[in-house]
Amino acid sequence: QIYLDNNATTAVDPQVLEEMLPYFTTHYGNASSTNHVFGKKASAAVVRARERVADLLEAKEEEIVFTSGATESINMAIKGVFERYQSIGNHIISCVSEHKSVLDVLRALEKKGAKVTYLSVDKDGNIDLNELEEAITDETVLISLMFANNETGVIHPVKEIAEIARDKNILFFCDATQAIGKIPVSVKEIGVDMMALSGHKIYGPKGVGALYVRKKSRKIQLEPLVHGGGQEKGMRGGTYNVPGIVGLGAACERCKELLKKDGKRIAKLRSYLESALLNIDETFVNSGDAKRLPNVSNIVIRFIKAEQLMANLKNVAMSSGSACATGSLDPSHVLMAMGLDKEDAHSSLRFSLGRFNTEAEIDLLIDMLNQKVTKLRGESPVWEL
Ligand code: PLP
Repeated sequence: QIYLDNNATTAVDPQVLEEMLPYFTTHYGNASSTNHVFGKKASAAVVRARERVADLLEAKEEEIVFTSGATESINMAIKGVFERYQSIGNHIISCVSEHKSVLDVLRALEKKGAKVTYLSVDKDGNIDLNELEEAITDETVLISLMFANNETGVIHPVKEIAEIARDKNILFFCDATQAIGKIPVSVKEIGVDMMALSGHKIYGPKGVGALYVRKKSRKIQLEPLVHGGGQEKGMRGGTYNVPGIVGLGAACERCKELLKKDGKRIAKLRSYLESALLNIDETFVNSGDAKRLPNVSNIVIRFIKAEQLMANLKNVAMSSGSACATGSLDPSHVLMAMGLDKEDAHSSLRFSLGRFNTEAEIDLLIDMLNQKVTKLRGESPVWEL
């Protein structure tokens, strides 16, 4: 089995797992019960994890709120701003190519009176900063734009977006779920107001994530999503998921350690894979001309349905250009927004490489793909050389 679906989720790094394990058994205390040693141990672990997450993002510990993952962080940020600031304005700016976890929140808020402008993207998946500036009105309270796209890897100009937001006194929330751990992400450098991240995309466990909420210069007031218990300074109730939080902290530290080395190695493997695939006739890379994450290759192999290729390559884990999350086979909204036709969207494959992939795996994949493409095109009534 070759795993090339690291944008969907990653394996837990063995070092991360090792750090987590004692918090399931020996140190199982409730981090809020600090009147005894069990609770103290758990509480200290949460403090340490918060430091590690903050360190990776160049944030302060008090700016990190632990959540159950990026989806919750996104809900907390967008709904939290809308609920708190709707008396000032009800307009939010986002983009057509955002992840469903952002788009679905926005749709829910539209039913509650929010007005949302969805920026378009060009053929490479880039936004236009002029379009962003023109979309701003007196009612705009929030800009919600992702750091890097999960399907194509396209990187948005987050620093420029933050500058525009700051100039106009609008909050900027960034879903950085896919960027963190793959490229340097510093909240200090960007000047972002809120940022979401997730444990399971960075070799940590599932079911844990964080929201960065800026404390410096302008304090952001969010309406909490989960009430109860007073944890996270009342921002997010519920008993601390100590093993998960420990795992998130360890995963962040490991990402910081490995960022340069991993980034270079993975980028090299990605280009190797991409050039081999581009040697096949009638192929092209989606967002090939854009600034992209180093680990993703979203490639169209024309005249073959991605689903068909995947069915013929059962020992390779990859992802297609269809919205299979919902069980439907609708073409990806991201690729459609970039102007691909349905045929090309259905012929798009996403390979997302990660920390544990090897050159030997990529060699094997290239061989297998070449064989299967020749076979399937040979059987295709529309394919003629
Ligand atoms: N945002 C992006 C860009 C993602 O890729 C994902 C996961 O697919 C999410 C948000 C949701 O993350 P989580 O699974 O942690 O809720």
